[in-house]
Amino acid sequence: MLRFAPSPTGDMHLGNLRVALYNYIVSRQTGEGFTIRIEDTDKERNIPGKDKEILELLALFGFHYDHLMYQSENIKKHQLFALQLIGSKRAFNCFCTPETLEAKRQASIENKIAYRYDGACENLPAEAVIDNKTPFVVRIKKPLTSITFTDKIKGTITFEPDDIDSFIILRQDKNPTYNFACAVDDMLSDISLVIRGEDHISNTPKQMAIRAALGYTKTMEYAHLPIILNDEGKKMSKRDDASSVKWLLEEGFIPSAIINYLVTLGNSTPKEIFTLDEAIEWFDLSKISKAPARFDIQKLRFVNREHLKMLDDEELSRYVGFIDANIGKAAKLFLEETSTTKELREKFTLMFAQKEAEGEYGEVIATFKTLLKKAPYFESFDELKNYLTQESGIKGKPMFKGLRLLLTGQEHGVDLTQLYSYIKTYLQEIIR
Ligand code: GLU
Repeated sequence: MLRFAPSPTGDMHLGNLRVALYNYIVSRQTGEGFTIRIEDTDKERNIPGKDKEILELLALFGFHYDHLMYQSENIKKHQLFALQLIGSKRAFNCFCTPETLEAKRQASIENKIAYRYDGACENLPAEAVIDNKTPFVVRIKKPLTSITFTDKIKGTITFEPDDIDSFIILRQDKNPTYNFACAVDDMLSDISLVIRGEDHISNTPKQMAIRAALGYTKTMEYAHLPIILNDEGKKMSKRDDASSVKWLLEEGFIPSAIINYLVTLGNSTPKEIFTLDEAIEWFDLSKISKAPARFDIQKLRFVNREHLKMLDDEELSRYVGFIDANIGKAAKLFLEETSTTKELREKFTLMFAQKEAEGEYGEVIATFKTLLKKAPYFESFDELKNYLTQESGIKGKPMFKGLRLLLTGQEHGVDLTQLYSYIKTYLQEIIR
């Protein structure tokens, strides 16, 4: 079983989407299921509605899942497993106050040594532990030996017991911490491979330690994806517009292109432009580079344009507000000079906007408008042109410039003969 485990605490960003995509692809390759686990145990940080938003985005990108669960549904189980660990002396109640711990942390800083929990509550007598009044947390005892795992991307990584420390698994309010809930749920869902961002690498030995303490012996594999850098070579963050999936969609990048781009990120692929189904055939997680990947919006624009070209004409027309294959064909002409659906929409907005009779060709535009308003239908651009020249005597550059402005709202651009063949039935709406 593969899983994507988003926290409903913020917008979905590109890094999350990449994690969802790779997990989805591998689940399809191996034929295992794909679980979505909304990690909603941190009530203070949850944002109402974010879970729905994430699920809508997953649907939009076509990542079908087999199971959906909310982590908070499992809290009772997390608590029971914590009790089991206490029972087997693998975990203990810790009564240290935040103030005491902070003082010890400060002392470590002053002595220039790394702070570690000092085991103060690890061996308290049973009477001290059974106390209903003093608030306490539950900590798992740090492992006795080092923990090693072989990451599918990063290679072999070893953590010493001190790196892992005796960390908290249940907070004072008896809610599980992220590491505990995650380790238990991955175990309960029989996850075979965890693909996630490299910011979680130091959590992995903790989660492995939890499952080992619970007696779970099945190996769970890991693949930690390198971070994504922005165009300045810094870690992409919320401040980078392009890190937001919503922003990319609003800018007119389409899901199939974003998927294509994310598969090529820090990867060598057999082809440059492909669909998700194709990627499922050859994607190889172990080929992903260990080094940080660099986000390149120009490359994404290129990929997006290629995907827009691949769309069915009528489907493309919907992106610019029509349901008409001819408009889709016209849009494909405009792809010579645009790369996103937003830019395409701007072209059609200009085309259908009221054309002002102003500027160098203002008079020509006014004359053509008057003539065309009462003109018959023209099958071809040549017929249209000949008619206008005949009736007005205008030809040459003023003729072409004026007509282009009237038909497209722009001075330069695509081949008018071709364009006209696709938009002719809209002539009266265009020449307003
Ligand atoms: N909720 C965590 C996150 O969004 C999940 C990490 C994981 O995949 O284990 O970062």
